[in-house]
Amino acid sequence: MIKLKNVYKEYKTKDKNIVALKDINLNIKNGEIYGIIGLSGAGKSTLIRTINRLENVDKGNIYINDIDITNLNKKELLKTRKKIGMIFQHFDLLSSKNVFHNVAFPLQIAKVDKNEISKRVNDLLELVGLSDKKYAYPSQLSGGQKQRVAIARALANKPNLLLSDEATSALDPETTKSILELLRKLQKTLNLTIIMITHEMEVVKRTCDKVAVMENGEIVEKGNVDEVFFNP
Ligand code: ADP
Ligand code: ADP
Repeated sequence: MIKLKNVYKEYKTKDKNIVALKDINLNIKNGEIYGIIGLSGAGKSTLIRTINRLENVDKGNIYINDIDITNLNKKELLKTRKKIGMIFQHFDLLSSKNVFHNVAFPLQIAKVDKNEISKRVNDLLELVGLSDKKYAYPSQLSGGQKQRVAIARALANKPNLLLSDEATSALDPETTKSILELLRKLQKTLNLTIIMITHEMEVVKRTCDKVAVMENGEIVEKGNVDEVFFNP
């Protein structure tokens, strides 16, 4: 479903060029939870951001269901992006909007009909276990609850791909566990594909089917989690 072929990207800064991605090749199947693990600066964030074109690549191709997204016009890009949700370490909720309106926001932008918005938001809040917090504001929520809101918002436009950028890194171990369980449940019930970047081995072991290990812009190892992290 998602295929990266010889992807290369560098950041040009005043004094030097930083190679962030070096000849990346990756195949991710529909419905897989694919972990990308590595130290800070390895290129994980750049990699995941190329998949929804928050970053452009210098060389190589990225295919989503056989469509090369490195070459789309603006209209096609917006259409592709609607099918991709993203969640972040610091949740990025709108503090002036309550839970209901945070989740409704991308649907209002997409000009979805009001009754449909209401139905979809209520369904999503139920799915992430937050129906009772509909009228709360982000400042009134715990970190785990905020991430649940962010997940509901990321799923509002019914994407089939969810990108997770260190989504549990700001959470304590117990809350991390519950968010990872939620992501597993969503993968199953919605047949989502999830690409998850993290610097924590535990997160990958607990949640992912496959993993790629990144170092200095390169994938140095990839495969099934139990093979890559085999402990004799
Ligand atoms: P990770 O997510 O694994 O921490 P990143 O993809 O954020 O890695 O960064 C990879 C490399 O690219 C690092 O050396 C980082 O400093 C550099 N980098 C990231 N973003 C930029 C940018 N906007 N401008 C210049 N260099 C950047
Ligand atoms: P606006 O059009 O000004 O954005 P809405 O009519 O969408 O306002 O919503 C008004 C209030 O009702 C908001 O506080 C919102 O949180 C709440 N609300 C709207 N629809 C629902 C719903 N289906 N369930 C619960 N609360 C809702």
